[in-house]
Amino acid sequence: YADTAMYRAKESGRNNFQFYRPEMTKHALEQMQMKTSLRQAIDNEEFIIHYQPQVDIATDTLVGIEALLRWQHPSKGLLTPKKFISLAEETGMILEIDDWVMHTTMKQVSKWYHDGLDPGKLALNISMRHLEAPNFIYRIQNTMDSYGFKPEWLELEITEGHMMKNAMEIINKLKQVSKLGINISIDDFGTGYSSLSLLKRLPINRLKIDKSFIEDIPEDEEDLTIINSIIALAKSLNLKVIAEGVETIEQINFLKSKKCKYVQGHYYFYPMSADELQEILLTNNE
Ligand code: C2E
Ligand code: MG
Ligand code: MG
Ligand code: MG
Repeated sequence: YADTAMYRAKESGRNNFQFYRPEMTKHALEQMQMKTSLRQAIDNEEFIIHYQPQVDIATDTLVGIEALLRWQHPSKGLLTPKKFISLAEETGMILEIDDWVMHTTMKQVSKWYHDGLDPGKLALNISMRHLEAPNFIYRIQNTMDSYGFKPEWLELEITEGHMMKNAMEIINKLKQVSKLGINISIDDFGTGYSSLSLLKRLPINRLKIDKSFIEDIPEDEEDLTIINSIIALAKSLNLKVIAEGVETIEQINFLKSKKCKYVQGHYYFYPMSADELQEILLTNNE
C-alpha cells in the first residue's frame, strides 16, 4: 500500500513530490493521492462540462445554462465537484481548472450562437480564489476575445461565503467585471455571511436562492418565510431572483405565486452533456 502511494506520487512528477509517512491517516493518504491525480487530470484534460438549463417559469422557456464541472476520473468514474473542488481551491489548482472551464464553455457557447442557436446566458461558477487572482479581469477579457464571446452572454456566479473578509477588493473587482457588460449573481444566497450593506454596494444583477431553502417547501414554514424575504429583498434592491434545486410541481407553484421568475432544477432538466443540450436547442429552434 505504502509503496504504491509513493510510486504514484513520484510518477506524477512536477513539483509534486510527496512521501508516504506511516502516521498518515487513511484520509490524509487519500487526499495526497487525490492531489496527485487532480494534477494529472488538469494535464490530461480529464474534465467535462455538464450544462443545466435555467427556465423562465411563466413561459417555460430556456433563458440560460449553468456550466457544472465533472471529472471523468480514470478509476473512480464521473465525479461531481463536491469530491474535488475544495482540494482544488486549497492547492490553487482551481485557477487552472476555472480557466479550462472558461475556455471550454465560451468556445462552445460562441459556436452555438454562431450556428443560430440560443442557449441564453452562460452562467459560470467562479471560485473566490480565482476572482481574487490579480489577472482575473485580463484572463476573462482575453478568453472572451479568443472566441468572439459577447460579455452580455455571460453571468458569473459568486458565492457570498467569504466576501466580507475582503469586501473592498471584491467590490472593486466586480465593478470592473460589471463595466465589461458581464452579469453577476450571488450563488447559494442565504447560506453565507454577506451583510445587507455589502449587498447594496455590489454591482450584482441576480440572487440565486440556495437549494437548501427549496428542498422542504411547501411544507416547511420557516423556509417559506426565508424565501419570501429573499424575494422581497431582491425586489427592493432591483435584482432578479432564481431558485436552484427545484424538483416538484408544488415548489414551482409556490415560486410562481411569489413572483420568482426563474428556476433551475431536476423538475425541468438535469445537468446534461453539450450534445444533449444541443439537441434541445435545435428543437427550440424549430
Ligand atoms: P452550485 O453552483 O450551487 O450548483 C448547483 C448544484 O445543484 C449542482 O451540483 C447541480 O447539479 C445541483 N442541482 C441542480 N438541480 C438540482 C435539483 O433539482 N436537486 C438537487 N438536489 N440538486 C440539483 P454540482 O454539479 O454537484 O455542483 C456543486 C457545486 O460545485 C456548485 O454548486 C458550484 O459551487 C461548484 N462548481 C460546479 N462547477 C464549477 C466550476 O466550473 N468551477 C467552480 N469553481 N465551481 C464549480
Ligand atoms: Mg452555481
Ligand atoms: Mg448554487
Ligand atoms: Mg448551491
